[in-house]
Amino acid sequence: MSTLPTIPHLINGERVSGGSRTQDVFNPATGHAEKRVLLADKATVEQAIASAQAAYPAWRATPPLKRARVMSNLKVLLEQHADELCALVTAEHGKVLADALGELQRGIENVEYASYAPELLKGEHSKNVGPAIDSWSEFQALGVTAGITPFNFPVMVPLWMWPMAVACGNTFILKPSERDPSSALRVAELALQAGLPPGVLNVVQGDKESVDTLLTDPRVKAVSFVGSTPIAEYVYATGCAAGKRVQALGGAKNHAVVMPDADVANAVSAMMGAAYGSCGERCMAVPLIVAVGDATADAMIAGLKAEIAKMKVGPGTDASNDMGPLVSKPHFEKVKGYVNQGVMEGATLLVDGRGVKVPGHEDGYFLGPCLFDNVKPGMVIYQEEIFGPVLGIVRVQTLQEAMDLIDAHEYGNGTCIFTRDGEAARYFSDNILVGMVGVNVPLPVPVAYHSFGGWKRSLFGDLHAYGPDAVRFYTKRKTITQRWPSAGVREGTVFSFSSNR
Ligand code: NAD
Repeated sequence: MSTLPTIPHLINGERVSGGSRTQDVFNPATGHAEKRVLLADKATVEQAIASAQAAYPAWRATPPLKRARVMSNLKVLLEQHADELCALVTAEHGKVLADALGELQRGIENVEYASYAPELLKGEHSKNVGPAIDSWSEFQALGVTAGITPFNFPVMVPLWMWPMAVACGNTFILKPSERDPSSALRVAELALQAGLPPGVLNVVQGDKESVDTLLTDPRVKAVSFVGSTPIAEYVYATGCAAGKRVQALGGAKNHAVVMPDADVANAVSAMMGAAYGSCGERCMAVPLIVAVGDATADAMIAGLKAEIAKMKVGPGTDASNDMGPLVSKPHFEKVKGYVNQGVMEGATLLVDGRGVKVPGHEDGYFLGPCLFDNVKPGMVIYQEEIFGPVLGIVRVQTLQEAMDLIDAHEYGNGTCIFTRDGEAARYFSDNILVGMVGVNVPLPVPVAYHSFGGWKRSLFGDLHAYGPDAVRFYTKRKTITQRWPSAGVREGTVFSFSSNR
């Protein structure tokens, strides 16, 4: 029997066990299992759903301002516990502490936006739509809602979902990634401390068995998912077939177009962060540069090689490191496999990170930055999401050629263009078939008061994540039309009014 600490569920405000299966949780910098996580069985998930359903009537009836105050309290607690939360993220995900702090900050901004829910829920009112008839729309909570999240932003992506869901009056069940589940659980405990009543937010640890229970149980009214495209598609189809509202955000392969007139130094610096930040494990990472003109490609390569040579790879806990390890051994092997495949396919490997060694961390999942030139659209390393520190350069001769490539790709999450030409930038952002576009901005991740979502096979569903779309996703519109005819002042009754009002 393993003596590793066990990461539990949080149901009805209590840490509980449930389910006989567990999975090891590794520290990617050491390659050693340091904890294990429970994997919920169906009965445990049903217990969480029952807890959320029991908490719903009172929470729905709680004035929106009181619900919002819990979010304001939580924002302060998250700031106070930033070091603790970032340490949990780095220990299980591997990213450097600065990247963990960056994701926590973006998560906190979503909590802050959820604290505006009373304003966002105000609805619409029309007086005298007919004689003595008024009509209004209001946004009512759905009931029990659920979220399933990926490994790569363990603290931020859950905060895209449940704060707005509960601020709108719903109750929630979160199923975090089983690879790095601790930070989301700790945030849920801080939410209790912030004043969230037990049962309003429940956390079940688990895998497919938990997900399938959430997708099919009729008490769950809506499901938000973020993860890889095959699972997103499955979650969308299964949840919709069970009559639920579903939004399922999937994978990506984001392209950066670099025009001949771009500020190359700016584009190089931006691409270093976009390609290698967080080890490339970001759905908004930019693993492809589409260079317009050979001179542009050559200038980018010179700049990137110089910057890559300065990069330091090592454990995320050491602030001098720029890049930590990949999340797991299988993922490490998969990403290395893509680099091998790129070489076999005939792309030119200019920088090879496969041999990187980190003294004292020989079992860690470290892969150095890799840079390919002459990547072609037919190649597997062009088509598939690698989710690692692998950047490829595709050479084209015109902006239209670059745009045709991007439009033809199965994913449409994010893209960007580097140029000094406003007309080119405007044409690109107006016409490209991608959901989030940057102009001289590499990672066009919308702020919390806009919404996040890709097009094509990067998102299944109609509404994007967080921001104003989240208010619509976690509520249903009700329109009430009401007639109170009146002939004027009624004498002799308790009810009397002046027609001058
Ligand atoms: P994943 O699809 O493997 O897992 C996501 C979630 O689904 C996890 O909670 C996991 O437990 C669950 N899951 C896994 N297999 C399942 C199955 N067969 N049935 C039911 N549930 C299952 O994704 P990941 O590896 O954790 O995360 C990386 C992926 O997420 C990348 O593809 C990345 O692009 C994507 N992502 C997308 C966005 C976005 O906003 N579009 C944001 C972050 C990550």
